[in-house]
Amino acid sequence: MTDYRYPEGHVFYRKLGRRYPRIVRGEGCWLYDEHGKGYLDAVGGAYVANLGHSNPEMAEALARQAREFGYVSATAFTHGPVEELAHELAATLPPGLDKLYFLSSGSEAVEAALKLARQYWIEAGKPSKHRIIALNPSYHGNTLLALSASAREQYKLPFREWLVDVERIPAPYPYRCECRGTDPMCPACSGAALEDAIRRAGADTVAAFIAEPVGGSSTGASTPRPEYFHAIREICDRYEVLFVADEILCGAGRTGSWWAIEPYGVAPDLMTLGKGISGGYAPLSAVAAPERIVDVIANGSGSFLHAQTFSFHPVACAAGLAAVRLLKRDRLVERCAQLGRVLQRRLATLTELPHVGDVRGRGLLAGVEFVEDKSTRAPFPRAAKFVEAFTEAAQEAGLVVWPNVGHADGVNGDLVVVAPPFIITESEIEELATRFTSAHAVALKSVKAGVR
Ligand code: PLP
Repeated sequence: MTDYRYPEGHVFYRKLGRRYPRIVRGEGCWLYDEHGKGYLDAVGGAYVANLGHSNPEMAEALARQAREFGYVSATAFTHGPVEELAHELAATLPPGLDKLYFLSSGSEAVEAALKLARQYWIEAGKPSKHRIIALNPSYHGNTLLALSASAREQYKLPFREWLVDVERIPAPYPYRCECRGTDPMCPACSGAALEDAIRRAGADTVAAFIAEPVGGSSTGASTPRPEYFHAIREICDRYEVLFVADEILCGAGRTGSWWAIEPYGVAPDLMTLGKGISGGYAPLSAVAAPERIVDVIANGSGSFLHAQTFSFHPVACAAGLAAVRLLKRDRLVERCAQLGRVLQRRLATLTELPHVGDVRGRGLLAGVEFVEDKSTRAPFPRAAKFVEAFTEAAQEAGLVVWPNVGHADGVNGDLVVVAPPFIITESEIEELATRFTSAHAVALKSVKAGVR
């Protein structure tokens, strides 16, 4: 029998020092390995499996499309799945964002959205507008432009010479910002930091501002105040900067509304979609844009400069179409809002644990931030590797969560995000909290013993 660890087999794993359990089956919110051990998938893999595992209608939709035809090039043809998926998604998106361009990964969608912003300004006769402004902390992907936009020093360091400069402003992050979410608001929470950055850079050089409407893994489901995106919209309009909402993680119903920007009552200029839009049954992402932006290119050069072999993939689009129709038919976004209230209430009780500093989020997206000292909010030193110990203990206990580090000051900071499938039940939420509590105890013990 193979031990699934490098270099035993022929796979070059993501983490080269770790052993990987081999999953052989999934059902609802659960995954099972080859030894029959069950894992409660409390983060849908990577915020992806929003419909749960092994949904037979999804399997049938993929098979049906593969039987008809598996691939055609988007350079030559269009097809039913892409036309219908765009139509279904457009009906859910903020007003005006009704033109969609499909790709495979979230990073590709971010690259494409930022390139679209740049190409738009060139063809609109403002070629000096090229700079991008993004938040800190933030994550927008791992390809070079998306990585440039991300505030992840640990991923960027070896590639520094290849990355483009991106202006950075502090994220609205109430647990750690200057005002701690109270009045008077600090520049990060009010949006004033964006205006300062645009003025510093010179508005005639700024193409786009990119931000997640609700923080994903970088700030652990931090939710900006209700005024925030109104201010952002107004500043972007005033200085002619395109506002790109990255909804790859927080969109497709995850926060209890179709799109996380909705409760803010404003529409972005461009939006990126990914992860849950296909429920994870095929790699699928998209850029949503309004006609007024696409028209500038349609009437200018006539083509958007971001073609990829697998864009508009028929089987991936068929998965997206089936996922969006299921979300609508079974009212799963509404269910996400309803079960989200149960999840947030239950997880809030975890602040009784000695090192849980904060629990926050919206819908079925929740962040739990660990600290060494709850009164000062001081993080554990990075060397303690608390979140690594927690995540391993959780997996051992049969619970899958998503860890993040570095959000406190660029180096230190430990949090995990929970984002279960929308079909999770109340008793599974209870199970999640129980396993979480035991993983916290094990992690604490191993960190105190200096095991790591
Ligand atoms: N944007 C956000 C907000 C993300 O969370 C991610 C991935 O986690 C990406 C973009 C990149 O997506 P992908 O990993 O599919 O390339």
